[in-house]
Amino acid sequence: MAQRKAHSTRKKRVAKKPAAQAAQKKAPVAAASAPVVETTPVVENPKTVETPVEVKTAPVEKTAPVVEKPQAVEKPVEEKPALVEKKAAPVVEKPKAEVKPVEEKPAPVEKKTTPVVEKPKAEEKPVEEKPASVEKKAAPVAEKPAEEKPAPAAKKTRATTKKTATKAKAAAEPEAEATKSAKPAAKKATASKSKAKPAPVVENPAPVAEETTPVVEEPASVVEEAAPMYDMSNLPRRSIAFIGSECHPFVKTGGLGDVMYALPRQLARLNCDVRVILPRYACIPQKYQDQMVYRGEFYMDLGHTGRNYYVGIMEYICDGVVYDFIDNQEFFSSGNPYTNLVDDIPKYCFFSKAALAALNYMNWIPDIVHCHDWQAGLVPVYLRTLFKDSPVGHARSILTIHNLRFQGIYNIPTIQYWSGLPGEVFQMGALKDGYQDANMLKGGIAYADRVTTVSGTYAGEIQTAEYGEHLEGHLRYHSGKLRGIVNGIDYDMWNPATDPALAVNYDLGNVLDHKMENKLALQQELGLEQNTDKFVIGLISRLTNQKGLDLVSTVIPQVMDGNTQVVVLGTGDKEYEDTFRYYENAYRGSFAACIQYDEARAHRIYAGADALLVPSRFEPCGLTQLNAMHYGTLPIVRETGGLKDTVEPYNTFTGDGNGFTFNRYDAGLLLDAINRAKTEYFTNRYHWDEVVQRDMAKDVSWENSARQYKDLYLELTQW
Ligand code: ADP
Repeated sequence: MAQRKAHSTRKKRVAKKPAAQAAQKKAPVAAASAPVVETTPVVENPKTVETPVEVKTAPVEKTAPVVEKPQAVEKPVEEKPALVEKKAAPVVEKPKAEVKPVEEKPAPVEKKTTPVVEKPKAEEKPVEEKPASVEKKAAPVAEKPAEEKPAPAAKKTRATTKKTATKAKAAAEPEAEATKSAKPAAKKATASKSKAKPAPVVENPAPVAEETTPVVEEPASVVEEAAPMYDMSNLPRRSIAFIGSECHPFVKTGGLGDVMYALPRQLARLNCDVRVILPRYACIPQKYQDQMVYRGEFYMDLGHTGRNYYVGIMEYICDGVVYDFIDNQEFFSSGNPYTNLVDDIPKYCFFSKAALAALNYMNWIPDIVHCHDWQAGLVPVYLRTLFKDSPVGHARSILTIHNLRFQGIYNIPTIQYWSGLPGEVFQMGALKDGYQDANMLKGGIAYADRVTTVSGTYAGEIQTAEYGEHLEGHLRYHSGKLRGIVNGIDYDMWNPATDPALAVNYDLGNVLDHKMENKLALQQELGLEQNTDKFVIGLISRLTNQKGLDLVSTVIPQVMDGNTQVVVLGTGDKEYEDTFRYYENAYRGSFAACIQYDEARAHRIYAGADALLVPSRFEPCGLTQLNAMHYGTLPIVRETGGLKDTVEPYNTFTGDGNGFTFNRYDAGLLLDAINRAKTEYFTNRYHWDEVVQRDMAKDVSWENSARQYKDLYLELTQW
């Protein structure tokens, strides 16, 4: 969903062509020997695990030399025409072969805030099989110092690293569940009621969760409510590993973070055993870092680097969901999760492989691996290649596309170098994209058992040239396994009745009075004229080309009519930031440009504004319109993607609908929609207020959507 501009795909690709091609020639040799090699990195060093914290040194200093940046990234690559897909989907059926149980590893219980085990050099040599636990791979031949390793572009000059690895044979038996959930979705009569929810009774059969870690409380900023007591006894149980690059409240840049937070919690209430695997970024707030509990560590080879990399696992449990953070300071020490593709490609190759290796290491083998966006796009590919004979290889995979614009594209030699994937996956039907590039999301789509995106309309749109981001052919080919499931919002996090950020809390019963108080407070906070008669329009968004901001900036002079105030909250492209700053200056007291990311302020804008603008060029789902409706703020949206699926157009004659919409991407139509909203607000307040209440009562929770995901899991795991 929110994948940031640093990852914009084709336009951002750079490569040094000759070197890349040279490396590509070499690659098949390595790949040819690689496909059947099991590299599941489950090496555990019992000594180091038991070593007290204070004697350990930070892994970054020892095992994580600076990532070499491929030389091949400095020059822009010409655009290449997308090729027609020719290959059949290389989805591999889940093996039915018998699996052997894995002996549990004793999990250390000491809490470590920094995984700091220094790996003895000897451990980087081929490892003998150990009797207990998941077998570990034989490490590659002697590790080379970082400075000796050529970048991928220079790969042809390197000796091919030979990896021999023993196959990890063990597996955990999945739980068998007999019946399918038939529990109807509970319709919410009023959205704003403070729901006293008893704590969920969520079992976590994973040995790790039970034996190692205390439950850690959620952050204060998130309103804590007891979860509803569902009768889960008749719901089939499934285990799901979520793998993604961001998750509220640890790290969030947009809607993906919201989904990674809310969906697992809701699934836990539907008798799912959920484990969320995330990178342990250095930018995760210290209060969460402090509460993480050391879960284990091992070393893992990575691609053709010839090195073993430290993989620490730090754990945090909350509301029936286990969060496992993959630790490696070499990859995750930057202040922002996303920097640029030069760094992000190696980072997410490492993360995708380490996430699967960690599941093997922890002997927690999920029924479903549910991965998200391009950062985890290689997970389904790994599952069916390097990990196929390891325990986790028995899991089915789902890839959710939150935003197709971001795909993780780079030249083939580089991605081959960092991923270590066999040559056959770099074909047109899978990762290959154009003449010389590999596309991590495209590979994930090819190899996943199911592909979902975050609304039904977007699932259809991305199969067209207008929205397909050049993958429309690939998506049409795989349309049989493509679904659209619209997002919801977390009612614990988004609840005007209990939201601690608001000046005044309100619910369906008193919204009409208290919303005005929130409007006055917002006007005061932002230096706007305090007047409840003003029509306040909010805009909360990443400031990028996707969000229709060129339309907004075009119509602002006509919108600012003396009775209207506009509040913008967002960061992003400089041109938009500067435009909104300009308008703030031009319309002092009526226009506020908050060029920042501020979660609490966002809540106050949802509460204090009358309407919220979402005129996106494309919108996979969109969460801001859902938040707005739940806070009694009417959305003004373009009819695209999830906006179309969640906002019913207001009908002046019948009074039906949830907001104001327009279809074509056109500034005049946006202005018309805003004017229709204003007309209704100023001349027909009674009807306006009816819509406010209707929107607050609308069910935009995760409940229905989570059931659809659960049904999908059951469809994939029918036993
Ligand atoms: P996208 O994922 O494309 O950025 P979504 O509408 O799916 O857009 O999700 C955006 C989420 O990020 C919403 O929860 C919204 O409130 C939040 N958000 C966006 N910009 C800001 C900001 N500047 N400050 C606080 N929250 C923001």
